[in-house]
Amino acid sequence: IVAIRDLHKSFGHVEVLKGIDIEVMKGEVICIIGPSGSGKSTLIRTINGLTPATTGSVTVEGQEVHDDNLDKLALRRKVGIVFQQYNLFPHRTVLQNVMMAPLLVLKENKREVEERARSLLAKVQLHDKEDAYPAELSGGQQQRVAIARSLCMRPDVMLFDEVTAALDPETVKEVLVTIKQLAADGMTCVLVTHEMGFAREVSDRVYFTDAGRIVESGPPAQLFEQPQDPRTREFLSKVL
Ligand code: ATP
Ligand code: MG
Repeated sequence: IVAIRDLHKSFGHVEVLKGIDIEVMKGEVICIIGPSGSGKSTLIRTINGLTPATTGSVTVEGQEVHDDNLDKLALRRKVGIVFQQYNLFPHRTVLQNVMMAPLLVLKENKREVEERARSLLAKVQLHDKEDAYPAELSGGQQQRVAIARSLCMRPDVMLFDEVTAALDPETVKEVLVTIKQLAADGMTCVLVTHEMGFAREVSDRVYFTDAGRIVESGPPAQLFEQPQDPRTREFLSKVL
């Protein structure tokens, strides 16, 4: 469903991605791990076109993301992204936040969107917070609203960039449970995470990146227990 081929990205003279190849099948969950500054966020942002590639190709369902003729709106619908910062609209209720994009961007029918939004909020265990404002929620609750908001666009792929990094330890778990459920329901997910236990549990494949390259990838049991490359070993010895 997602194919990344020989992807390079430079900011000015600095090459941040130096030839990345990743393939994600429908329903798969992959995790990208690696040191700070290794290009994980840049990589994930190229998948929905937020960051343009310098060279190489990214396709989603066979369509080149970095093609000027691509229907950007269709891509935004197909590929959901959730960040560390949830960026909810403070003066809109939880329900309104979740409904906003399908209503305003896709011009969908209000009744249908509302029904979908309510069921998504129930799914992320926030049915009782529909009329609350973001400021009245915990960080973990706000992040789950952000996930529901993204899901309300009915994406085919979900991207998560360190969505638990800004949260209190006690609310991290509820967000991870939400993502795990999503994965179990068959959603295709690409996750950047520092939660190694979670990566190990949830993913079909793990990619270790360093300095703009994929150093090593494999099933989580293999990558975490028998890392082949010394850089992977060194990184894991620091974080595990
Ligand atoms: P972290 O784990 O800290 O989030 P990361 O692996 O996500 O790190 P990126 O955010 O992708 O790393 O950044 C990779 C490199 O690209 C860094 O050296 C960063 O300074 C640089 N970089 C990222 N975005 C830009 C930008 N818009 N302009 C210039 N340089 C950038
Ligand atoms: Mg990052």
